[in-house]
Amino acid sequence: MAKKITGNNQYLKELNKAAVLDLIRQKKTLSRKELADLTGLSPTACGSITRELIKDGFLYETGQGESTGGRKPVMLELKPNSYYAVGFDIGMNELKMVIADITASILLQRNFEYSPGISAEKVIALIRDKFFETIDSEKLSTDKFIGCGLSIPGILDRNTNKIIIAPNLSWNEVDLGTEVSEALGMPAFIENEAMCSAICEHWIGKCSNIENFICINIESGIGAGIFIGDSIYRGYTGSAGEIGHLIVRENGRPCGCGNRGCLETYASIRHMLEDINERIRKGYSSDAIKPGTGALTWSQAVDAAYNGDELCNEVLRKGAVYIGYAVAFLVNTLNPEAIVLGKCFTDYAPLVMDTLVETVNEKSLKYPVSKVRMLTSEFGMNSSALGAAMIPIRKIFGK
Ligand SMILES: [Zn+2]
Repeated sequence: MAKKITGNNQYLKELNKAAVLDLIRQKKTLSRKELADLTGLSPTACGSITRELIKDGFLYETGQGESTGGRKPVMLELKPNSYYAVGFDIGMNELKMVIADITASILLQRNFEYSPGISAEKVIALIRDKFFETIDSEKLSTDKFIGCGLSIPGILDRNTNKIIIAPNLSWNEVDLGTEVSEALGMPAFIENEAMCSAICEHWIGKCSNIENFICINIESGIGAGIFIGDSIYRGYTGSAGEIGHLIVRENGRPCGCGNRGCLETYASIRHMLEDINERIRKGYSSDAIKPGTGALTWSQAVDAAYNGDELCNEVLRKGAVYIGYAVAFLVNTLNPEAIVLGKCFTDYAPLVMDTLVETVNEKSLKYPVSKVRMLTSEFGMNSSALGAAMIPIRKIFGK
C-alpha cells in the first residue's frame, strides 16, 4: 500500500527539503525565485525551507546572480565541507576508504592492505581504527558525518543490513551494517560492489544524465550494477546483476557456484591469468615473455599484451568475446542506453574494445544495439569506494 502522506506536514517538509537540495545540486546555483518557479512551492514555503537548510549548513548564499531587471538576486549553492560521508570498499586483500563532502568532492582517498582470508571482525576493527585515525589527523569531527557506505563483493540483504554470502572473502551471514554503524557512531549502508560502481558512475561519472545503464566490473569475479528508470535495480532478493554466472559455454569449465561454463570462468582476471600462466608453464615464450619467466602477475600480463605478446593478447581478446555475449544478452533484455565497463577492464580496454564492440554488434538485436553507448569507466579500481561514499550523500537528496 502506498504511504499516506497527506496531513503529515513534517514528512512533506522533509520531501520538499530533499527536492530543493536536489534541484540546487543539479543546477549548481539557483535564486529563491528560480527555486519557487521550478518546484511550484510558494515563495513563503521556499523561503522557510531554504532558511532551515542554510541554518543547518547544507546551503549557503553566494554572490549575486544575473539580474532580470531590478535588484540582483542572491544565489544559493550547496555548502562545501559542511557535511561528509565515508565510503569503504572491502576487497580480497585491501580496504579502500574515501571521504567526500555533500557536493561530492573528494576530500581524501586511502588504501590499507591486508592478507586474503581476513575475518569480518578484523575488517570492522580496521575500519574503526583507520576512520578515527584519519579524522583526527584531518581535524574533522564525527558529528559532521552523515553516514557510511560499505561496498561488499557479495550477496546482501539490505532489509537486515546483513551480508548473506561474500565468496571471495569467505564470509557468510555477517551483520556488517549494524556493527560498522555501532563502531563509527553513524548510519551505515551496505551495497554490492558492482552496484557501488554504478552509483559512482550515476552520481559523479559518465552516466550522471543516463536513466538506464549497466555498469560491469571485471575483477577476480564479474558483476553488474543496474540502473533502470534512474533508480537502482536490485531484483526481488537483491542479487540482480550476477552476470558472472551467465552460462557462455555448455558443459564448460566448472565454476565456484556449482554450475559449468559461467562467464567468470573464461573472462575474469583470475581465470585469464591462469590461462596465460598455464601456457607459459607448458613452455610458451615470446619477445615480451622470455623463456624461463615464471608465472606472470596481472600487471605483467597486461604489460606483455601492450608490448605485443601474442598469447596475452589472444587470452584478453577471447575474454572480451565472452563479455560481448553477456553484454549482448543485456542489450537484448534490458535495452540500456549505456554499458560502462570498469575495474580491471580499464587496464586493457584499448587492446580489446574493438573485439568487444564487434561481438556485441554481431550478437545483439540491431535496433537496441545501434543506440547503446559502450563506455570505459574513468575511475578504475576506485569506483566502488567512491560509490560507497555517495550512498549516504544520495540520501539527503531523497535518492
Ligand atoms: Zn558460476
